[in-house]
Amino acid sequence: MTREQSYNIALEKQREVLRYKKATFDAAMQNLQKTNPDFAKINSRLSFLGAQIATVAISGDTATLEKLQKEMTELSSAREAILKMASIGDIVYDCNVCQDTGYVGGKICDCIHTAAKELLINDLSANIPLDSCRFENFDLNYYPQKSADNTSPRKYMTSIFKMCREYVINFDPSKSESMLFRGNTGVGKTHLTLAITYELLNCGFNVIYGPAYNLFADMETEHFKEHTNNKYNAAINCDLLVIDDLGGEFVSPYIQSLLYNIINTRDLSGKPTIINTNLTMAEIGTRYTPRVASRLFNYNIEEFVGSDIRLLKASEK
Ligand SMILES: [Zn+2]
Repeated sequence: MTREQSYNIALEKQREVLRYKKATFDAAMQNLQKTNPDFAKINSRLSFLGAQIATVAISGDTATLEKLQKEMTELSSAREAILKMASIGDIVYDCNVCQDTGYVGGKICDCIHTAAKELLINDLSANIPLDSCRFENFDLNYYPQKSADNTSPRKYMTSIFKMCREYVINFDPSKSESMLFRGNTGVGKTHLTLAITYELLNCGFNVIYGPAYNLFADMETEHFKEHTNNKYNAAINCDLLVIDDLGGEFVSPYIQSLLYNIINTRDLSGKPTIINTNLTMAEIGTRYTPRVASRLFNYNIEEFVGSDIRLLKASEK
């Protein structure tokens, strides 16, 4: 789901609910009008009074005006009482700010921003473990305090963890740096990039996340079969693009140029990209064209360390 789609769906959902509420309200009023003669009489008298009051107000006949206004107040109360008896209340809006229209002063209301954001997060959660990969449940205890070479993977990963949290806090779609997270399988790269993705989506940023093989295959299919480039354009224009597992995709000359165009265009416009990969720097150099590799070498490169956490967790069971 693209961000644009999430807004269209949120607006359409709200319109549908509003249509239903209005139709239910209108049907109840029409039914009351038909079945309750007093209600029908009061309604017709009220509309007559409304027109009369307008005419008399212009004429300046205050005595008559007061009499008509008194009758109107009484009839309005009687009408209210009938509506109350019939349990017909005013339409209750989900959002009082925009009265469920989705717009305030020509701008999209906050209720739609929130709904669209939730749709995007839910859509992403359907395919990836977004819920279990948060900052809150990133367990640094899986990284050893001391390793054979006398370094501390835990201390080192704690600094990477902190850096990721700060990246979110200070995120600026035109200033934040691009990062390359490199390391073996299961050392927390996907977990931390998903945590970043979730937090930024939750702040309302336009983040696109996907494993390289899905992202590029989808773009290729769209380009050659549907003759559109919506996914490619979305990847170029989003606030943050996260490519997981670079190296897991099939590299054709087309994918090479796709990858280059995406990262180059984003670099030129100052938009950040985060890439996860199991590949070593040397492998990146041989797998991709020199112009792709040189772009990636310019990213802020973070080396993830530790053992495969998935295996560690499995061995605990
Ligand atoms: Zn609203």
